Amino acid sequence: MGVDEQRVPGGGWPRPVVPRIGARVSYALHHLLAAKPAYRRLGAWLERRRPAYRWFTWAERVTKEQLYGCRMCGQCALPDTGYTCPMTCPKQLRNGPCGGVSAEGRCEVHPELVCVWVTAIERAQDAGHGADLDLLQRPVDHREWDRSSWVNYWQGRDDGLGIAPSEDDPRPLLRRELGLRPR
Ligand code: SF4
Repeated sequence: MGVDEQRVPGGGWPRPVVPRIGARVSYALHHLLAAKPAYRRLGAWLERRRPAYRWFTWAERVTKEQLYGCRMCGQCALPDTGYTCPMTCPKQLRNGPCGGVSAEGRCEVHPELVCVWVTAIERAQDAGHGADLDLLQRPVDHREWDRSSWVNYWQGRDDGLGIAPSEDDPRPLLRRELGLRPR
């Protein structure tokens, strides 16, 4: 298979997507879908019934693809990224931007498009959630692709996806996660 024919999880090569729905509305919708016992039971029921789970996952895919360019990584970072999907970054960075973003905030791979992370920071800040971008996002678990991130979230599997800075430990998050001490 040639490089041009290769496919990455989520189908096709990722391109930066500007969400079709505002961040404030998205944060409000999140409250409706916030994990609660009834949703946890629904998620458990769906996982026991594969046809229902497939339909539910399909509905999630269609909805989030239209609104955010979702690629169904199954571990949704949207609430921490101003409701901008990090998997539409051509490098699929969960913590960005990379060093290639231009001074005008353009993507290095698609210079005609705005960097996903610039969009994320602007949307989060506009909605009063700028501090969310201080979280360190864990690497993607590739076994979760094409699974429902809503069900995963309701089942508590997303707990700890974003790691908060610690007031007790001033080391940069990545260094703290790796257990490194400054020289
Ligand atoms: S589930 Fe993954 S691919 Fe889909 S919007 Fe969330 S972060 Fe992006």
